[in-house]
Parts: sequence; structure tokens; C-alpha cells
Amino acid sequence: MKRICCLFAGVFMVAALASVAQAPQPAGHWAIVVHGGAGVIERSKLGPEGEAAYRASLAKAEAAGAGVLDRGGSALDAIEATINILEDDPLFNAGHGAVFTAEGKNELDAAIMDGENLKAGAVAGVTRTRHPISLARAVMEKSPYVILAGAGADAFGARVGLEQVDPSFFFTEARWQSLVKQLQKEGRPVPPRPVGAPPPPAAPPVPVAQIDESADAHMHGTVGVVALDRAGNIAAGTSTGGLQGKMPGRVGDSPIIGAGTYASNQSCAVSATGSGEYFIRLGVAREICNLVAFKGMKLQQAADQVIHKELEALHGDGGVIAITTDGQLVWSFNTPGMFRARQAEGGKVEIGIYNDEP
Ligand code: ASP
Repeated sequence: MKRICCLFAGVFMVAALASVAQAPQPAGHWAIVVHGGAGVIERSKLGPEGEAAYRASLAKAEAAGAGVLDRGGSALDAIEATINILEDDPLFNAGHGAVFTAEGKNELDAAIMDGENLKAGAVAGVTRTRHPISLARAVMEKSPYVILAGAGADAFGARVGLEQVDPSFFFTEARWQSLVKQLQKEGRPVPPRPVGAPPPPAAPPVPVAQIDESADAHMHGTVGVVALDRAGNIAAGTSTGGLQGKMPGRVGDSPIIGAGTYASNQSCAVSATGSGEYFIRLGVAREICNLVAFKGMKLQQAADQVIHKELEALHGDGGVIAITTDGQLVWSFNTPGMFRARQAEGGKVEIGIYNDEP
């Protein structure tokens, strides 16, 4: 009996630690929360070097966004600056380093939303625009639409002057090997090595982190940021390669406004990561904001309710980061880990990976 009680107490403590909220910020102060995906991230697999690499990457990206906010920049600018860095970082499943579809292509999704006016922009299945989050922002600011998909989205990116790259730009050996392993394991055909990819290495690459996505389909490396600027506006952005081995054309939750990305100054801003289909069906991001707006819940309570109750009831996995205009900064996830960082003006940067960290 005692043992069972201890077990429950332990489980409760871990759950509580995985979702500790920060004290709200005074008016006029900035704040930012960043995620780099959630999933079965274990100390034994990541190793000290992998862990250090992820923490350094999160710190660098977070510092860029914090710098923008500290100089009086907007939440949107901070989000774009932070995500641009993560999109270029091969450790994360966004931009360069994105996972492959079952046909060996990188199809990228992204969204951004401005909490001040509910303007939003999103892209799905883009293959040539280096920074999908910047393309999502261009859709929001320079087109009358909310979502653009595929070749039309890339063509729009080229028209508005965003950097276009050969699709092989997004290729990384580690992701490719991970796809091959997954497809072989599942008995699915392995597509030819992408055109333009560097020749295969003589020896298998040594991954920075031993995260084996083929062994674990529940590893997500999407990136997202929510931010509060000094003008009191909040915004959210998310960028991803989606799910490894996905069917070409599959669109996840990240570019679906209200599912993987949402922001309203009246409630909250949210960026999600996880098995997108569940997040779409639950409208996770909007659901959390609705609990804040209409049920008067604290942000942490609302996020925990959706992630630990509603998502779990459907057996979905993943997590969210969220923020309010009064500076509640939270994360909530039901996976063993989520790459994450947060900072409020005048405070220290908190970086976490596992669910037993605050
Ligand atoms: N949510 C993303 C998707 O389903 C995947 C992820 O978070 O890693 O496309």
C-alpha cells in the first residue's frame, strides 16, 4: 500500500513538475516561450553530448527572440527571428533537418498568428522556401488569404522575395537514415536517395543525439514560439516537417489555425507539437484559449486540462507552450520529454528537456 502511495506521489510530482507555471509579469514587460518538439526523449538515448547540443540550440534561438523583444520589437518579429534559427538548425524537424515523407521528400508546414487583431497566415507542403515561417507571415501580411499550399505557396514566396532553395537544401543524412530504418522496419518500400543529396557517407553518420525516430514513432521535432511584447500583444508561430514517413500531401496541425497554432490578446497564444491528427480533431490551441476566455481558467490549468485529459482520452501524445498578455508562461506535455525554453523580462532563461525538470 505504502509503495503504491509513493508511486502515486511520485507520478503526481513528475506531472506537476512537467507543468510548473511562472509568476505573471508586470505590464509592459516582454516574455517568450520556445519549443523544439515533444516525444519519447530519454536521457539514456540522448546522452550528455546530445543533451548539451539541444540545450545550446534552444538557448541560441531563445536569445535571438528575447533580444528582439528587449529592443522593443514585436512579438511577431521575435517569433520569426527565433523560428528562422531553428529552421536552419538540423537538430529540429523544421526547415533544414525536416523529416521525410514516405516518398523521400521534405514537405514543410508553418503558421503564424497575431493576437492583437486575429490575423493569421499559414503554409502547407512547401518544398522550396527556405524559411516557411517567413512565408506564413507573408501570407498573413501580403495576401488576402490565410492558408496557401504546395507549389502555389512557394511561387508566392518567390514573388515576395523570400529565399528559394533547391529541395535538397532540407536534406540531412541523419533524417534520411531514420526514414530508411522506419520504412524497412514497417516493410514499406524505400524511395531512392533524393536528387541533389550529398553522396552517402562511407560510414554511417554519428548522430549528435541518439534519438531513433524509426524505433519510436512518437518523437516530434516541430518548433514553435509564443511571445508577449512590450506593447502588450501576444502572438504564436509553429514550423515543422510534419511526421516522418507521412503520405505525400498530408497536412498536420501546425498550419491549422486553432489546432497547432492560435493567438488572441483576449485569451492566449499557443503553439503545439505532437501527433497532429489528434490536435486537429480537438482544436487544441483554440480549446485552451477558450477555457481561459470563457471558463476563466488560469493558463496552466487550461493547458493541462486539454493535454492531460482531452488529448489523453483520445490516446494522442504531444504538448503545447502558451502565453497570456499578463505574462503567464506555461508548457504542458504528456510525453517523456519536450525541448523547451522560456524567459520573462528581467528573469533567467529556463531550459528543459525531460518531464522531471521544472
Ligand atoms: N504536430 C506535427 C504534425 O503532426 C508534428 C510534430 O509536432 O512533430 O505535423
